[in-house]
Amino acid sequence: MSNDNSSIHDFDLGLICEYFSLLERQGPGSPEVTIKALSFIDKLGKEAKIADLGCGTGGQTMILAQHTPGQIKGLDLFPTFIDLFNKNAQKHNLQERVKGIVGSMDQLPFQAEELDLIWSEGAIYNIGFERGLREWKAFLKPGGYVAVSEASWFTEERPQEIQDFWMDAYPGIDTIPNKVAQMQQAGYVPVASFILPDNCWIEYFYKPQIRAQETFLKEHAGNKAAEGFIANQRYEEELYHKYKDLYGYVFYIGKKI
Ligand code: SAM
Repeated sequence: MSNDNSSIHDFDLGLICEYFSLLERQGPGSPEVTIKALSFIDKLGKEAKIADLGCGTGGQTMILAQHTPGQIKGLDLFPTFIDLFNKNAQKHNLQERVKGIVGSMDQLPFQAEELDLIWSEGAIYNIGFERGLREWKAFLKPGGYVAVSEASWFTEERPQEIQDFWMDAYPGIDTIPNKVAQMQQAGYVPVASFILPDNCWIEYFYKPQIRAQETFLKEHAGNKAAEGFIANQRYEEELYHKYKDLYGYVFYIGKKI
């Protein structure tokens, strides 16, 4: 491997992708929460067009598909995730309505006002909440919905340790009222917002990682980059347990006007 920055970056991305491929979900969430978010959206018909952006391997997409009759396209930057996504759709016998495609959320392969619903769990941060909401709106029909989950502060103030962690990880994190205002300013009616319960992190996200971490470390024994990556994952989990009253994921549902 050459030592220019781009190949180190590619190598790390490969490791990250391999690690998250071992998991059913790549971010906090749960079937209950996906269904709850969907309950705020007007009933969709068979012809409805839905996009799940940053879908990963499709944990939440399959739940969505089981509770809506429409056509769903899952979009993710990583081909490995999309391969697993399409296998997952087949396993659930949803391949006629649910298709995974490789692409980027900042260059969507949809037509103007084509979509009835844009879904995105734990992924809009990749282009930023405000930018994502503004750009994606062009692809929604008037009256269409956006439903995204996003890291948010629950309080106005917090200890320096957790402030510093998030300023490094995602400086776009903000309080719930500020996120709701951003949604409104982006041209949506903020229909609902609710905090994901902590089982979305503990049961559905961190618990499955215990085994994944063992498998991954065995596979990459002696690899410093892999060990460093797992140490970071564990640190992130430790911080969650320590500060979970102060931040978490929030679902924001908006209707295009
Ligand atoms: N929605 C999934 C879930 O909740 O399990 C995955 C969430 S994971 C935290 C974020 C996802 O965004 C990853 O699957 C990642 O590959 C994807 N991603 C990152 N940048 C992207 C981009 N520019 N366009 C599309 N997907 C992207």
